[in-house]
Amino acid sequence: MNLRPHHALCIQKFTGHGYDDRFTEHMTQVCRTLRDFPETEVTVASGCDDLCSACPNNREGSCSTLQKVETMDAATLRALSLRPGDTVPWQTMASAARAKIFSTDEFTHICGSCEWYGLCLKTPII
Ligand code: SF4
Ligand code: SF4
Repeated sequence: MNLRPHHALCIQKFTGHGYDDRFTEHMTQVCRTLRDFPETEVTVASGCDDLCSACPNNREGSCSTLQKVETMDAATLRALSLRPGDTVPWQTMASAARAKIFSTDEFTHICGSCEWYGLCLKTPII
């Protein structure tokens, strides 16, 4: 599976809300797969990924909020000490995000400007 870096955060905070029905159904399926098969190999994408493929903000392979998501991606990469093209098990990436982002000030630093931040802040990691 290909994932852009900050989606390692969004997946763990997903509560069934999305941009539209198609996106939400697809994201639900991706989250279920990663929950049921945490050993799934994830490759760090530098652009649109397997979640973006069903997003209404994906304009011919590029995110319409590119500047915002690239800033979040870069900060997530730094926090997790990952690089584009790295491949790691999902459970490794997810646990690193919990330890190095959700449990620290990095969460606010990376996600504070996101429209979903208030919701994600209240959402516990299961
Ligand atoms: S605040 Fe935004 S970027 Fe951060 S985890 Fe939530 S949806 Fe993803
Ligand atoms: S296209 Fe943009 S808004 Fe949509 S899932 Fe991808 S990064 Fe997020």
